[in-house]
Amino acid sequence: MGAPRIVSPTYSTNPSAIKQRRYIKNHPKKWRKIHYKSNKKWAKNNREVYLKCKRDDYRKKTAEVWEFFGNKCVKCGFNDPDCFELDHINGEGHTEKNSRGSKKYATMDAKYKLVKTNPVLAKTKFQLLCANCNKKKQRQLHEYWNGK
Ligand SMILES: [Zn+2]
Repeated sequence: MGAPRIVSPTYSTNPSAIKQRRYIKNHPKKWRKIHYKSNKKWAKNNREVYLKCKRDDYRKKTAEVWEFFGNKCVKCGFNDPDCFELDHINGEGHTEKNSRGSKKYATMDAKYKLVKTNPVLAKTKFQLLCANCNKKKQRQLHEYWNGK
C-alpha cells in the first residue's frame, strides 16, 4: 500500500456536488452559460462584495505583474507602481488582436495570464516603463503616429 490519499476538504463528496462535477465534465459549454448567468445574478445582488473582490483581485494581479517585471522603470528606475505601464518592446501592441477583435493584452487579466503561463514570452514581449518613458518612446519611435 502506498501513502494514504489526501482528500482536499474543499473537494466535497456530497451527492449534489458529485452530480454537478459530472455535469460540468459532460457539458462544459452549457455549464459555462449557467455559471455565467448565476455569477451575474450574484454580482448584481452583492454589488459591494463583488466590487471589493474585483478590486482586490486586480490589485493582487497588478502587484504580481509589476513584481515579475522588476518593480521599476527599465529606462529611468522610477519606482512608483501607480505610474507603471507595460510597454511592448517592439511596439506591436496595436496590431495584436484577441478573438473578440480588441487589443490582445489590453487588460491586466490578459497580462497576468501571460506572465503566469508563458514567462519567457512575457519577458521578450514586454518591459516595464514609467508613464513618462513610455510616452517618450512612443513619440520618438512614432509608434502611434497621428501626425503630431
Ligand atoms: Zn521611466
